[in-house]
Formats: sequence, C-alpha cells, structure tokens
Amino acid sequence: MRLYLLHFGTMQPGGIPVCGYLIQADDGTNVLVDTGWPRSYVTDPMHPPGLTLEIAEEDTAAARLGSIGLTPGDIDLLICSHLDDDHSGNHDLFTGAELIVQRKHLELARSGHPRFARNRDAWDHPDLRYRMIEGDKEILPGVEVIETSGHVPGHQSVLIRLAETGPVILAIDAVMDQSMADPDEREIWLTDWAETPEDEAQIRASTRKLAQVASQERAALTIYGHDARQWPTLRHAPAFYS
Ligand SMILES: [Zn+2]
Repeated sequence: MRLYLLHFGTMQPGGIPVCGYLIQADDGTNVLVDTGWPRSYVTDPMHPPGLTLEIAEEDTAAARLGSIGLTPGDIDLLICSHLDDDHSGNHDLFTGAELIVQRKHLELARSGHPRFARNRDAWDHPDLRYRMIEGDKEILPGVEVIETSGHVPGHQSVLIRLAETGPVILAIDAVMDQSMADPDEREIWLTDWAETPEDEAQIRASTRKLAQVASQERAALTIYGHDARQWPTLRHAPAFYS
C-alpha cells in the first residue's frame, strides 16, 4: 500500500498548507482523502478573513492526481474528512467514486448550514454517490476512518497501516498543527465549531482520541491538517510512503 501527500495550495501569512491524500491499495484500489479548494479559486480565490490563498494550476486535485498518472475517474473511494471548502472543493469531479462521509456531517451540511453553503454545488452535486457511516469504520484492510467530531460535527480522520513506514494517522482538521496535539493545553482555533458550550469539550475529546490511537497503534507518523512547520519535512507526491 502507498500513501501520497497531495499539496493543494497555501494560506498566507504563515505558509499554511492545504492538502489531500491518495492511498493506493495493493489490489489497485485508489482511495482519495479530500479534494482541496474549488478549482475556480485558482483564478478567483475567496480569501478567508485575514488570509490570502495561493493556489497554482498544479495545486488542483485533478492536476495533483495527474502528477502520479491518475485521473479523477480512477478514484474508487473518496473519504470526505468534512465539507469545508478547502477539503471538498472538487468533489463534483468524482462521480465515479463512492464518497464516504459521517452521516451527521452530511445531514448537517445538507440542512443548509451557511458554513458549507459556499461550495455546495461541488459536494452536493446530484451525480455523487455518498455512503453515510457512523463512527469508526474499516474502509479497506489497513485503512480505517476515525470519527473525530469537534472541528465540525462528524469530522473524520484516517489511520493507514503501511508495511514499511508503519501506522500513519491523518489527523486532518481534528488537529491542524502539532502545537494543538495536547488535548488539555491545545488552542481552540477560529474555525473550530463553537455553537454550544459542549463544543470545546468535543474538540478536546477528539484530540485525546487521536493521541490514544497513536499510542495504541504505535503510530510511526501523525500528519497534521495544516502544519506549516511539519509539511516541508514530509514526502510529497509523486514521492510516497509505503
Ligand atoms: Zn482545513
């Protein structure tokens, strides 16, 4: 099994990466995790408050897949960590795949919550096939989704057991940066869900859950969702972890 890290652009200031992942199973099954910002942002970026987006033509999901000889039509499964626009902007390209999402997250987004409305045409395209799951689930041998609500309700992270590297955790936005890995001390970020008083406790609980999985699995590597310091130290596609 191979794990490719796909660079989907950068937020400034701070050089904060936006990324996705491709898991290639030994039987050839291609599993994509997240699809980056909408490709329209290459020429017409929607800058979040206080940030500037840098997205080159080669940073789109289709171009990054192309760099490893794949097209969107080659993707069998698309794991949707969540539907923020930096993670779901090109879902509409993956009509041939099965999209795996936490039930409560898709239901929340489809209820019309404004947070997910901006690129609804991409993630709620009528030709997309969603499989709604609840909680932790093995997707393929060696690939598990871990429910990590907090950043948003129904966020999911991924555990991949690689033969040479060992277990790798994709924390995604449950833990965006290594500095947020301590469940008790971590900062609550501007974009973390904060609609009820229980939300902060849920963010800390999922941070703790990932730390426990890392310890139980003896994880070789935890990849954080938007970590400007860690990202340059990692192997990027077309290179891979195996
Ligand atoms: Zn994000």
